[in-house]
Amino acid sequence: MNFMYDPKSMKAEEFISHEEILESLAYADQNKNNAELIGQLLEKARQYKGLSHREALLLLDCELPDKNAEIFALAEQIKKEFYGSRIVMFAPLYLSNYCVNGCVYCPYHAKNKHIARKKLTQEEIVREVTALQDMGHKRLAIEAGEDPVNNPIEYILESIKTIYSIKHKNGAIRRVNVNIAATTVENYRKLKEAGIGTYILFQETYHKESYEKLHPTGPKHNYAWHTEAMDRAMEGGIDDVGLGVLFGLERYRYEFAGLLMHAEHLEAVHGVGPHTISVPRIKHADDIDPSAFDNGIDDEIFAKLVACIRIAVPYTGMIISTRESPACRERVLRYGISQISGGSRTSVGGYVAPEEDDQKSEQFDVSDKRTLDEVVCWLMKLGYIPSFCTACYREGRTGDRFMALCKNMQIHNCCLPNALMTLKEYLIDYASPETRKVGEQLIEKELTHIPNEKVRGLVIDNLKSIELGKRDFRF
Ligand code: SF4
Ligand code: SF4
Repeated sequence: MNFMYDPKSMKAEEFISHEEILESLAYADQNKNNAELIGQLLEKARQYKGLSHREALLLLDCELPDKNAEIFALAEQIKKEFYGSRIVMFAPLYLSNYCVNGCVYCPYHAKNKHIARKKLTQEEIVREVTALQDMGHKRLAIEAGEDPVNNPIEYILESIKTIYSIKHKNGAIRRVNVNIAATTVENYRKLKEAGIGTYILFQETYHKESYEKLHPTGPKHNYAWHTEAMDRAMEGGIDDVGLGVLFGLERYRYEFAGLLMHAEHLEAVHGVGPHTISVPRIKHADDIDPSAFDNGIDDEIFAKLVACIRIAVPYTGMIISTRESPACRERVLRYGISQISGGSRTSVGGYVAPEEDDQKSEQFDVSDKRTLDEVVCWLMKLGYIPSFCTACYREGRTGDRFMALCKNMQIHNCCLPNALMTLKEYLIDYASPETRKVGEQLIEKELTHIPNEKVRGLVIDNLKSIELGKRDFRF
């Protein structure tokens, strides 16, 4: 290796080294049928300490059917060990689709003159959030295009304040995650002070040359500014950051390696890896045709990607959105996904007002169009526990404190009780009769899985208090 690759470097092109990725791809290609080496890596991964990008890439490329079966089985085992059967629920909230960037895969790109441009006023945010609370949501991811005039940081901060202040019936948004463009340390500090949960920014692609072509205009064109954003966010005090690529833009093997190198960089520099990884695939939207991009991946490869990410970074939550169909979501839940959205609207103002065709402002077409109640019921029938928990962030368990909890496997003493108590709130306040029936039976059964007797007793008491009208218990 005579090129510059340094996970500790603060320069994008050094911690995401193109040459290192190419070497890793070649290494994986050469060894994809090497049963002995793949067996050794699986042995290593069974210690739950993760794998490097190069090691994980070899598992991704593996062509041996028996080893592939082991890879999927291990991903499933890690998922069960770390996350049990809990699935955290959230919804996106689109604040504004004004955008000055030219991203060629997104209908909000500045040159799209026919899409309806909308920006929610604070009064409209109140209405949207009230609708989300009435569905039962407690955790939101806010989304806004990059536009210093229409969506300045002050607008985002004011919107966050508004969202947290809305208390409608028993509803409350208890965690606001933020997905806005790369910004300055100073602005990240302001977001931190506003009490955000995770700062999410998708890299879209780690391939610099492609990145520059896919982002021909606007501030997002600057690869280094975008790729180094998480370092600035952490410098600004944000502990929890969420990574992601848009699969379909570039070759998936390249993106997979880049994603894991980014995680390794955060761990090496800040001592804490990404809080979440999202795995969106490019979908149809307004003037965007996914077939115009050559690198689409089928469901088979998609499942393998999820499984290999799960094995490589066991402590990182994985998110899937309603871009994917119920069948696809069901499959990848097994192999590693720990958070899903439900009842989502991907347009500005879409929770209150269904849009007329000529007023459409969606960022992408939703494949899973079910209501939150239908998704919750479906999850429970599959044996999962939908969780509306937001406890860690509210108890100050973020960043390395959160990771320490995970690494000591202490998370089990918090997550299951919190999942059951927040699910109970949901069942009483928002569920349909059928969902409630299924849920009550599930809670009854899952209570017996809380190992600590004292904790179990407390949870039983709290569940009774929830029936009497009290809310917001947490460990
Ligand atoms: S992906 Fe984001 S930055 Fe790019 S056009 Fe869409 S909203 Fe704007
Ligand atoms: S206790 Fe923490 S890690 Fe567990 S579900 Fe709640 S917020 Fe997530």
